[in-house]
Amino acid sequence: MAGRREADLGSLLAQARVAYRGAFAGADPEIAVSAPGRVNLIGEHTDYNQGFVLPMVGFSQRLSLQALQLGTVMVGSPRRDGTISIITTAEEAEEPKRVQFPAPTETNTLRPGEPHWANYVKGVIQHYRAGPLPGFNAVIASNVPLGGGLSSSASLEVATYTFLQQLCPDDGDLVAKALACQKAEHTFAGMPCGIMDQFISVMGKEGNALLIDCRSLETFLLPLTDPSLVVLITNSNVRHALTGSEYPTRRRQCEEAAKALGKASLREACMADLEAARALLSEVVYRRARHVIGEIERTSRAAQALQAKDYRTFGRLMVESHNSLRDDYEVSCPELDGLVAAALEVRGVYGSRMTGGGFGGCTVTLLEAGAAEEALQHIKEKYNGTATFYFTTPSDGAKAQPL
Ligand code: ADP
Ligand code: MG
Repeated sequence: MAGRREADLGSLLAQARVAYRGAFAGADPEIAVSAPGRVNLIGEHTDYNQGFVLPMVGFSQRLSLQALQLGTVMVGSPRRDGTISIITTAEEAEEPKRVQFPAPTETNTLRPGEPHWANYVKGVIQHYRAGPLPGFNAVIASNVPLGGGLSSSASLEVATYTFLQQLCPDDGDLVAKALACQKAEHTFAGMPCGIMDQFISVMGKEGNALLIDCRSLETFLLPLTDPSLVVLITNSNVRHALTGSEYPTRRRQCEEAAKALGKASLREACMADLEAARALLSEVVYRRARHVIGEIERTSRAAQALQAKDYRTFGRLMVESHNSLRDDYEVSCPELDGLVAAALEVRGVYGSRMTGGGFGGCTVTLLEAGAAEEALQHIKEKYNGTATFYFTTPSDGAKAQPL
């Protein structure tokens, strides 16, 4: 299995090498790294409320007989003149696809600008935890759908950081690495994200999902290798424009609720606290807080259910999570609701929910392995658009790759 996965990522690495030779006078890159996208099983919009999340990395798209592993790779080599030159092969990324700038020094600080995609990379370079960095040439190639809810952004940040570690090693602190990548997204890409995506892309382990306590930053591996179980990701292939504006609004509403409850964060609150303070909150802020407090509780129960191989309970919690995201947090959309409803009609499906920030992107479904083909067919038939399916194989987080 491990051999096959390396080979799958190998086709992406090969693509990056070809692009590198084409762009940099036929030279071969000396360094290669990869970082995966992620899917969150449960615990949505809880990370920035100091709650629990339960994501995993490792999924592949089945193209005829071959499974194509999804991730972001970066290949490159140092250069002597202190210049950084980076190319992305992503078709969806804005022009220009090549950026060039001097490596940061104490007197030369990088700043965000155009094109937008380069800000994720520049942010990581600026917040890198060792230095001074040499100049380098690099090519980025990814098959994580951009903006598809599988966190192409974190995989790009974490791939970049892992690449820099090969050029100029840091102390190897994984928590600090994930936090530096998150800081890059906040300060350079203008997205006030939580810590889930960067943590799982850094710390994913083969055969496991990862329970993350976003308050203490502790992580707990939860084995997920039962051959009778399948985690299916369905991409709605829609993305509504609301994502960018609604996310910061939700964050503010959560902060407002926590403040009204006299708590440092919603993690510190229980449902009884919320009910006691209901009169202090607007109807909307009350419902936002009800989602978060309920979701944190659901996620810790789901983690216990997974450990006990109680997939029925896990599935029921997934459905409760979806309904709460749809009704109280209001971040779902008709396409995601339709995909979840279709999945739940199939025998052998334990549960299904939207995953990621919302307003489009993907759903995640837990089901008996024997029901996978039927689920796929049924969802395809019922969905009013073109869905893409991914099967998960819990795998490792970011790493250097042999060339
Ligand atoms: P998600 O993380 O769910 O895929 P985001 O909106 O958070 O969606 O991040 C998508 C953005 O990240 C893209 O619009 C682009 O700017 C940047 N990005 C991600 N992957 C790449 C890549 N391989 N090359 C260039 N930019 C990328
Ligand atoms: Mg993202």
